[in-house]
Amino acid sequence: MSRRKRSKQRCRTSGKVIFYTEAAALVAIARGQSWRHGTSTNAYRAYPCPHCRHWHLSSKPRREPQP
Ligand SMILES: [Zn+2]
Repeated sequence: MSRRKRSKQRCRTSGKVIFYTEAAALVAIARGQSWRHGTSTNAYRAYPCPHCRHWHLSSKPRREPQP
């Protein structure tokens, strides 16, 4: 795995880091959960952003319909 210094792009609307594919976002989530606490996001799901049309990570649970 090669590491390049590449500044992460961020969404202008949400300010969140952009992922171009859902897979990339999910990989970031998996990595984040193994990183040191406090240095990474606690995100555990990815969602498509309607503003930038890319993917972001979210630590908030999906809203579930109330019975
Ligand atoms: Zn966005």
